[in-house]
Amino acid sequence: MSVLFDRVAFIGIGLIGSSLARVMRRDGLVREIVACARRPETLATVRELKLADRVTADPADAVAGADLVVIATPLSAYAEIGRRIGPALKAGAIVTDVGSVKGTAIRDLRPSLPETVHFVAGHPVAGTEHSGPESGFAELFDGRWCILTPLPGADAGVVEKLTKLWQATGSKVVTMGPEHHDKVLAIVSHLPHLIAYTIVDTATNLETDLQSEVIEFSASGFRDFTRIAASDPVMWRDVFLANREAVLEMLQRFTEDLTALQRAIRRGEGDKLQELFTRTRAIRRAIIEAKQA
Ligand code: NAP
Repeated sequence: MSVLFDRVAFIGIGLIGSSLARVMRRDGLVREIVACARRPETLATVRELKLADRVTADPADAVAGADLVVIATPLSAYAEIGRRIGPALKAGAIVTDVGSVKGTAIRDLRPSLPETVHFVAGHPVAGTEHSGPESGFAELFDGRWCILTPLPGADAGVVEKLTKLWQATGSKVVTMGPEHHDKVLAIVSHLPHLIAYTIVDTATNLETDLQSEVIEFSASGFRDFTRIAASDPVMWRDVFLANREAVLEMLQRFTEDLTALQRAIRRGEGDKLQELFTRTRAIRRAIIEAKQA
């Protein structure tokens, strides 16, 4: 593929940012990569792994002269980053992000961005439980969705350019409104993480209370939850605070369904249980067929 951008600035270059940088390098999609992070250790790792041509701890310095700015930090850093990069952005630059919640990403960034730049928020729906630039890999986005949430009036050419970039990572790109994105992700990603965090916490408390070997005997079901519950604490704290309304709504529905299941177990209604488990098994098959397993 040909060069899409001359200079790209990453503000935050952990799992997601570094994976995108690796694709850009691998496929020669950009001429120059500048990376920004707060800690000298992070910048040293980026340098060692040759993920960027230049590193800096100053976001304003990073974005100066950049054609594309990718914000890839935890969501709670967005407002401050916006304030720092706003005055330094080049006219005509494209600003995007990879944050897991889109409503607050737009709310926190947009007011600080000058009218001369194009802002289209995005979310690659791909990840692992690992963090940091050393955890990234170029194949992370392969076959996964990337959701762009352009605001009304967004430049169609800019959306197309970002679509091309994400398609180059192997992603399938779709656009939707930020609110819709946040509702969908609340059920497919945020609630499952909350359940995993809860189950693992309940089991560890039980282990202490009962002096039993819950962790030792953890079969694959529990083990899968522990993997999800090992996800980055800061990132997930931010996700739940940022997507509060949608998560609370999904949690309410989930609680009602769980209560119904609880009643079915208490009443010994095996047919109800089997019927539900059969329906959910079909969903798993559909996910496998859609190659999202
Ligand atoms: P990560 O591996 O922890 O990387 C975060 C990066 O941001 C690090 O380079 C960190 O370096 C830097 N950073 C943190 N605060 C900063 C600040 N104020 N200014 C500049 N740099 C800062 O996180 P990640 O998993 O890549 O997640 C990044 C974003 O992607 C999050 O918004 C998350 O919601 C989204 N996302 C994550 C996943 C996932 O599964 N992990 C999937 C899709 C989307 P320093 O600590 O040295 O500053």
